[in-house]
Amino acid sequence: MYALKPIKVYMLEGADKDPRARARMERILNAVNYPLADVVTFNKDNLAEVTREVADQWPPDNVPEGTYMEWMRPLVFTTTQMTKFRPDLTALAEEAGEGVHAGMMLEFLGYMDLWRPYHQRKDDWEKNYVCWPTWDFGTISGCSHGCIYCGTGRGAKYIALGLNLEQYVEEAVEPKILKESWQRCFRLIGTGADHPTFEPEYGAFEVYLNKLAEHDRYGYFHSNSDNMDWVQGLTNRDRLIGIWSISGAGQARVFEPAAPTVEARIKAMGKLAEWDVPVRPKFKPILPVKGWREDAADAIKLMFETLEPESLGFCVYMWNSFASMSATLDINEMDPEIIERTREAADEMEGIITGPFPHDVRKEIYTHYATEARKYSDDTLLFISTESRDMWDDMAETLGQDPKYFFCGCSSTALPGRKLGLSKDCPHSTYAPHGFDPNEE
Ligand code: SF4
Repeated sequence: MYALKPIKVYMLEGADKDPRARARMERILNAVNYPLADVVTFNKDNLAEVTREVADQWPPDNVPEGTYMEWMRPLVFTTTQMTKFRPDLTALAEEAGEGVHAGMMLEFLGYMDLWRPYHQRKDDWEKNYVCWPTWDFGTISGCSHGCIYCGTGRGAKYIALGLNLEQYVEEAVEPKILKESWQRCFRLIGTGADHPTFEPEYGAFEVYLNKLAEHDRYGYFHSNSDNMDWVQGLTNRDRLIGIWSISGAGQARVFEPAAPTVEARIKAMGKLAEWDVPVRPKFKPILPVKGWREDAADAIKLMFETLEPESLGFCVYMWNSFASMSATLDINEMDPEIIERTREAADEMEGIITGPFPHDVRKEIYTHYATEARKYSDDTLLFISTESRDMWDDMAETLGQDPKYFFCGCSSTALPGRKLGLSKDCPHSTYAPHGFDPNEE
């Protein structure tokens, strides 16, 4: 795992009761060189005090030479609670004071979502989104990468990890995959988390994939990381599919300060390809930084010199207005001509989920990426991720895929070997032509 340097480590009382959970925590502490004796135990009685401390100590005053500030986030070992019930901690959070909120306290106590739905059909239709309906799993909240375009990356004050993974796969994963019998591939992704950065010490993918293998399902990691050597020793490596977020070098340098370089990520992809694990990178989010065309061309060239991915996806930075983007990202680092066109389109893009970059800008970017990729491979399946149906209508020919049946990265149906596992409960993507009535589905 990463050589994190947590300012402090906390543990929910009893989270280490199971010897497997205890061993998991000890492996992580060893890896980050943090003494077990210094771990602060908490329960509901001192939760206000502990969360207050966590809120106060971030950001740290000093960052030692050679580490990233984001690697110093405190670790919180907890027990994922196998329930949908949530205690009301509003009063306790108020007592703890500014900077502490009830959601943070809930995560400390292990009340994290056991699974989450994404891209349900009617929802995507209403938002003008194209993706695949899916249920995701996760046992971590928070990340050590600190990408500036990500709320968790920018602002997280801690990383919380559920230690009871064996219980989680028995009591959450198994019943859910049996219920969603149509879904073939499931992400282990969590809340703004990057599970692979904690492997192999955390050991989540070993137990997760073993459970998925019992039911002939596949599991995704979704990562920005180059920490991938643990994959080689997995018992059910053939159940794993690798999804990466990748960028051009300029974007990584400016906006992904604590993530591995583009070269390192591509090298890690190459290892997985050698071990016959399907590799599906996505340039997501694409930020048109100065020199973005050359950055894209270089990264794509290096990728195809290293491996032939099953698919390659593109998604321009979205889910923002021009104002919210300008408030969080340094737009002076971006292509001035594109920023000007985006500024001019700010009013018309207000409230549009694929904003702030207008359709013509995004299309220009996708066309460039697709053209570069096609210089090296006719077989890799190209796609745009979570885009509008209008963009698919414009780009389908260039990409060479049907928006209703496109093969992409982390979809519920994208089986290894570029095969779609369609069924009557998931017959196609959430693409629908204009005029389609979702109530008639
Ligand atoms: S890769 Fe496919 S399933 Fe995953 S977010 Fe993008 S469009 Fe949706």
